[in-house]
Parts: sequence; structure tokens; C-alpha cells
Amino acid sequence: MASESRPVIVVGSGLAGLVAATTALRCNAKAVVLLERAAKPGGNSIKASSGINGAPTRFQNQAHIDTTFFSDTIKSAGKRIPPSPPEHIRRKELIKLLTNNSLSAVDFLSDDIGVDLSVVAQLGGHSVARTHRGAGKTPPGADIVTRLLRALQDDSRFQLRTGCEVTRLLSSTQSPRFDDPPGIVGVEVRSGDELTYLSGPVIFATGGFAGDADGLLAKYRPDLAGIPSTNEARPGMHSLLADVGAQLVDMDSVQVHPTGFVDPLSQASPLKFLAAEMLRGEGGILLHNGRRFVNELGTREQALSGSGTYKYS
Ligand SMILES: Cc1cc2nc3c(=O)[nH]c(=O)nc-3n(C[C@H](O)[C@H](O)[C@H](O)COP(=O)(O)OP(=O)(O)OC[C@H]3O[C@@H](n4cnc5c(N)ncnc54)[C@H](O)[C@@H]3O)c2cc1C
Repeated sequence: MASESRPVIVVGSGLAGLVAATTALRCNAKAVVLLERAAKPGGNSIKASSGINGAPTRFQNQAHIDTTFFSDTIKSAGKRIPPSPPEHIRRKELIKLLTNNSLSAVDFLSDDIGVDLSVVAQLGGHSVARTHRGAGKTPPGADIVTRLLRALQDDSRFQLRTGCEVTRLLSSTQSPRFDDPPGIVGVEVRSGDELTYLSGPVIFATGGFAGDADGLLAKYRPDLAGIPSTNEARPGMHSLLADVGAQLVDMDSVQVHPTGFVDPLSQASPLKFLAAEMLRGEGGILLHNGRRFVNELGTREQALSGSGTYKYS
């Protein structure tokens, strides 16, 4: 196969891209090139501060084995699971895949990568405590990213290129090579003023578009256009996928985190610092005019629609 001598190209250095690069190396890839548009790796993943959900893990309360991750997630998904097949079944299968593999994800991070995930909290929409973080001061996202990256950089087959933005996915019909397999065969990369081309199998892990407040967010959720965000204020890259025929789904499914810190010196700043969900998981309550007005551990949908609000007579 022509692709055997080419590097695996991973686009995006958040948690998804770092794990993809790690997995490719573990599967004996000869070389992995990780392309990141920002000057530093880590994406939004490096900011994650509450933790990672998993069940049933050895860090959870052993007296009550957690069997509710699947049903809690179905409940949180709400109307995103349509009532009739085949999509009803497919979505449930995806949720099963996510929740059934969550234990091995936590084990991989703690046992293989050395991330401390020993502290467990109950957060929004959960029946029991299942959000894992470390006991120290380093937030889980930063710890996960730093350790994954360190392990990758110890491998001579791995190369990280920052300041490199993928601007196009190249399909085999655009490739001059006669032995290219059908499908995506490489990427166009912009670094400064220079455009270069790299060929190889591509893993696209460029994250979401919540920081693209006046672009994709405004397009798919006009009601949220321009909303302040804790995400990096950079354009979403979904059009690169659509350009090569990918169908985008659920683009209107954007969850809004209900709490953030407002800098008194810069109240109108669109870039906010998250008041992490963990604060509510550890007992923080929300007050309005001195009164509690919402179930702090309801789902995001409840928090925004007000259906989880307390009723006062
Ligand atoms: C403040 C904050 C706190 C959070 N806390 C939690 C939490 O506690 N628990 C939790 O589960 N989730 C949390 N989240 C959400 C979580 O961080 C994201 O779901 C997760 O980071 C997504 O990972 P990712 O690898 O898909 O994307 P990202 O981490 O965003 O990485 C995508 C990377 O791709 C790069 N990229 C994009 N386009 C290109 C291109 N064309 N070429 C090259 N590179 C490109 C980006 O620069 C970025 O580095 C939080 C999010 C924020 C913002």
C-alpha cells in the first residue's frame, strides 16, 4: 500500500488528536505528524477543569456500582434521540459505545499515561458521582494534555508542527499519484505565507465551533450569535469536511455552560473564564437576589430553559 510509507497526519492537538496520535503509534505507524494551527498545543482540552466522566471505575464509591451512566446520558440527550428507528436505535448504540468504553478511557489515562483521576464528583445530570479529576492543583485537562504530549515527544516517530493550519483536505481525485487509494489522501497546510502539501492518511480532530461566535455559531444557532465564551475564539473547521462530501449532523446541538466568571475590569469581554461545573458538584449553590433559583445539578437543558427551577410560593 502506498500509504504505508507515509506519515499518519493528525489535525488538531486537543485531547482527541493527542489520543489519536498515541493510538496510531501503538498500532505501529511508522511516523505521525500532528498539525496544530495555534502556537501552542492543547486546544480547548487544556482548559478542561471539572474532569472526565467514566463508569464503573475503581475510583467511584465501591459500595454502589454505577449502572446509570447509559440511562443518565439518554435522559440528557433528550430530543436528540428521535422516537422512531433507524435513528433512534443508532443514537442509542452510539451512547452505549461512549458509556461502555468510559471505564477503559479512565483506565488508559490513569494507568498508561499516569494522570491522577482519583477524586470523583457528581455533576449535572448524573445520578451518582462519576466525574474524575486529580487531587492536586493541576486541572485535569492540563494534566492530560501535558502527559500525553510528553509521552508522544519521547517517541522518535512523532513530530508536532505548531503554527500549521490545514486549509484543505485533498481527495484522491485531486492527487497526481496514480497509486493513491480512494478517499482523502493528504492535506494542504498553511504556515505563515507558505502553502505546503502533505500526503498520508488523515485523522481530523479539530474540535468544535463554540468559539466561532459570529461565524458557525451564528449560522447554526442564530439565537447564540456573539455569545461570550470560554472557548478559543477561532473559526470552526467543519467546512473543510463538507467540502469533501461529509454530511454534518446536530450542528444546532450546542450546550451552553450556565456559569462563568465576569472580570469586573472588563465586563463586556467576549472571552470568559469558566466557573467550572465542579464548583457546583462540590456543593456550590446559585443565588439570585439571595435566593436559590435552580437545581445546580440539573442537565444543561434544564438550567437554560428554567424547567429545573425551584418553585417558591
Ligand atoms: C473552559 C472549558 C472547560 C471545559 N471543561 C471540561 C471538563 O471539565 N470536562 C469535559 O469533559 N469537557 C470540558 N470541556 C469541553 C472539552 O474541553 C472539549 O469537549 C474537548 O476539549 C474537545 O477536545 P477536542 O480534541 O475535540 O478539541 P480541542 O481541544 O478544541 O482541540 C482541537 C484543536 O484543533 C486545532 N485546529 C482546529 N482547526 C485546525 C486546522 N484547520 N489546522 C490545524 N489545527 C486545527 C485547534 O487549534 C485545537 O488545538 C471544557 C471546555 C472549555 C472551553
